[in-house]
Amino acid sequence: MTYVIKKLDADSKLKILGEVARFDVCGFPSVFTRKSKKFQRFKFIYPAVGKKGHCVRLFKVLQSNACEGNCFYCSNRKDRNFQRISFTPDELAKLFLQYYSKGLVDGLFLSSAINRSADQSEERMLKTTQLLRTRHGYRGYIHYKVLPGTDESIINAAARLADRLSINLEAPSAKHLAELSPSKDYVSDLLGGLEKIARVNRQKPLKAGVTTQLVVGAAKETDREILNLSGRLYRDYKLWRVYYSAFMPIMDTPLDNLLPCSLLREYRLYQADFLLRRYGFTPQELPFEKNGNLPQDQDPKLAWALRHEDKFPVEVNKADFHELMRVPGIGRISARRIVETRKKEKFTQLNQLRRTGVVTARARNFLTLQGRFCGGGKTKATHQINEQLFLWEEL
Ligand code: SF4
Repeated sequence: MTYVIKKLDADSKLKILGEVARFDVCGFPSVFTRKSKKFQRFKFIYPAVGKKGHCVRLFKVLQSNACEGNCFYCSNRKDRNFQRISFTPDELAKLFLQYYSKGLVDGLFLSSAINRSADQSEERMLKTTQLLRTRHGYRGYIHYKVLPGTDESIINAAARLADRLSINLEAPSAKHLAELSPSKDYVSDLLGGLEKIARVNRQKPLKAGVTTQLVVGAAKETDREILNLSGRLYRDYKLWRVYYSAFMPIMDTPLDNLLPCSLLREYRLYQADFLLRRYGFTPQELPFEKNGNLPQDQDPKLAWALRHEDKFPVEVNKADFHELMRVPGIGRISARRIVETRKKEKFTQLNQLRRTGVVTARARNFLTLQGRFCGGGKTKATHQINEQLFLWEEL
């Protein structure tokens, strides 16, 4: 296909190429967007969450939206009729720096559609990154997207310049990918690409690691299939994060008649993912229902606890760190504080627990204090317990 590339100024391009970049996610969405209208105004400024729960504003943009690919769900697909535009490396580097020098953004997230070939697109992105690092002396954060089929030499060069590399696996298996993308080969293009990135990362770890993204709800995949893959990626590839992107139908695509995936499903996946990475759960332990999905009406940690009543109540003065962490309402920090405090005093009152950060309204139904059950007058765990808190997390 031949694209007509109209002449547009850099700001007009940014409106278009920043808007379509929203489909690449790099953090639990909308935490800040919900709070502030300013992020809804600039579609290309993406509020991600920093290490201490603070807002990191990423300038998120595509180098080009012209694509040889024809993925069924994607706004940039080849057969879709809309305006194709590209930034030159120089133009994009200067535009980003304008925003950065005014203090409007804190870092760059650079991706692209596959314009002509993966390597040609990557060379333009690489050039943009090189200009920023060498000609303009930019030392800030860069998240750099590797396209399927990219040559390893380009990945090596990108790894020397970027803080983070990512590649989108999109689906939990080749069978599911076939429902989404006719031209991508799951094993060679996607897992092969991830393997190349992981190799580079093993030799010289990237400051902000390696991540991937999965589309949720468009390929009849189950949460179990998704989280089994995530578990393998964390174990075998030492991935920093797997991001989950709830499918949204886009007009004039083959999947435009599919229903959108619920944001609650995406949210439950993030909560379960957190249990895999930070709480020592295995994918097999997660509380899937018969249909292979997580329950929607309870957070996964609570659902797990309610299915394992034999493990509760836990005696606060005796349980080890890992047993404490499995109690709904007790997080890693409060479990550590409990273990430390216990060396000096026994826990006999809920007030003492509250001081360690335990959410006692949730935890009390799963605990004893010196053998005394404190669960709101009931003798065992009930469903009347609040949701697990959203866990602030880094990018
Ligand atoms: S290759 Fe990427 S940009 Fe192109 S259609 Fe597929 S998902 Fe969209």
